[in-house]
Amino acid sequence: MPSIIHLKPGKDDSLRRFHPWIFSGAIHHIEGKPQEGDVVRVCTANGEFIAVGHWQIGTIAVRVLSFENENIDTSFFKQRLNAALNVRRSIGLADNPQNDTYRLVHGEGDNLPGLVIDIYGPTAVVQAHSVGMHVCRQQVAEALKDVMGDRLQNIFYKSETTLPFKADLGQENGFLLGGDANDVAMENGLRFHIDWLRGQKTGFFVDQRDNRSLLERYSRGRSVLNMFCYTGGFSVYAMRGGAKLVHSVDSSAKAVDLVNDNIRLNFPDDPRHEAFAEDAFRFLQQMQQDAYDLIILDPPAFAKHKDALRNALKGYTRLNARAFEKIRSGGILFTFSCSQAVNKDQFRMAVFTAAAQSGRSVRILHQLHQPADHPVNIYHPEGEYLKGLVLYVE
Ligand code: SAH
Repeated sequence: MPSIIHLKPGKDDSLRRFHPWIFSGAIHHIEGKPQEGDVVRVCTANGEFIAVGHWQIGTIAVRVLSFENENIDTSFFKQRLNAALNVRRSIGLADNPQNDTYRLVHGEGDNLPGLVIDIYGPTAVVQAHSVGMHVCRQQVAEALKDVMGDRLQNIFYKSETTLPFKADLGQENGFLLGGDANDVAMENGLRFHIDWLRGQKTGFFVDQRDNRSLLERYSRGRSVLNMFCYTGGFSVYAMRGGAKLVHSVDSSAKAVDLVNDNIRLNFPDDPRHEAFAEDAFRFLQQMQQDAYDLIILDPPAFAKHKDALRNALKGYTRLNARAFEKIRSGGILFTFSCSQAVNKDQFRMAVFTAAAQSGRSVRILHQLHQPADHPVNIYHPEGEYLKGLVLYVE
């Protein structure tokens, strides 16, 4: 029998608005002894069923899987994965010969809190961010096989670093299906090696696809600096867009190898590209005035938690101020924040402060966000995390 979580009076309000998290403070008492990762049923103070979800020790005690009183089994996952695939088909990402790289499941955005699935050609990389999703990974894999059919040959499970350490689950990364070593995937006709074994996230930053396309449109004849390049997504698009030169910078030597590999894959022996393993602030400090007229700043999340917010905002200001000071007149700056804890207005204010410090005249050309395969559940605004600005600097 699944355990039953009884809520305190009034603590069902957010659930009636379909918000998918139940905080530990909302719980009155628990019937049964749930283990971390178990499926639990949730009742209001009147004893009325309201939700079913995954139990976890922590501030978010239950991640809601359904507001219907249904079983959480392979057929439940099939249904949810089918719905997710239908969305990707209807936005032209799945079954597109030019593009086999997309996010199939984006957690709460696809009504599957704690689960991320990215598709790279014939390989799916599955990542659990909750103990519950880890526990039911085989059901997820089975459902995924069924829903994707012939499209899928490999399922790689990658949750070593995304699960709570203290849960002591002994999780290991590895294939749940297949084991193909071909790691090349296609994004908008460009090819990329995806390092799902050791890479960050699921091996690639799928979420910048649309923003890279926009950058491509602005690259012709420009000198491009791609700061925090990682696998060099923006660099490869800038090359195709006709940039005069492209410099990629990342503090990790491994990332520099990855970007060089990806440039070679698409533009072998093209002398326009060069990559540097250097710290961003050092590089920006030392680079020549006016060396670049298109700069991309896509740093890692400066604030992983709300407590780190003040310092994160200062970090964004400091970083952007350096770019404003050095960019050539008539230059374009693509600047991003992927910190969920920093909202759009706070980020814009940090960039505004940087612009003011530099004294440059700056116009906002575009306001960017995460793409359609990273949808935001309208009842879960916390799912919005990527924001960017494209600025014209006089
Ligand atoms: N723009 C990339 C994703 C960036 S991820 C893309 O489109 O795929 C952030 C990257 O910043 C990581 O590769 C990390 O190695 C790098 N990084 C972190 N701190 C850095 C620093 N101080 N200087 C330069 N690079 C840094």
